Amino acid sequence: MATWICPKDGIENPHAEKRCLVCRHPNIPRIVVLQSVATGKEAEFTEPVKFGKAVFTHRFADPDAKFASDLQFEIIRDEVRVAWIIRPIAETVNPTCYDGSPLGPDGVELLDGGIISVSKSKMKLKVRFKKN
Ligand SMILES: [Zn+2]
Repeated sequence: MATWICPKDGIENPHAEKRCLVCRHPNIPRIVVLQSVATGKEAEFTEPVKFGKAVFTHRFADPDAKFASDLQFEIIRDEVRVAWIIRPIAETVNPTCYDGSPLGPDGVELLDGGIISVSKSKMKLKVRFKKN
């Protein structure tokens, strides 16, 4: 059975438990990495962040950046849902999709290996987590 080790007390918890069974520490990956599928360039972050055309152009050097709005989506660390959540920003020209499905207003939980895109197939970014 897959488990995770609580960094606060060393307790081994079942993977299905999002919080440590002893101290309730939330098991949220500390570092999120997004990688452009087209160029392989990456961005790492540990705080909530908004992404849009400028970042797609300069950080990822992705030719699909032209399909994005100035602000396209945001990624937040949600302590209640115990997950990193991607949420759309209103009024974008093209929708933001996750694994091919357009985001609803509440957003969805990011998972390792997930694909964020503008429309169904433009500006693809692959999600990866780092433990520490
Ligand atoms: Zn703990």
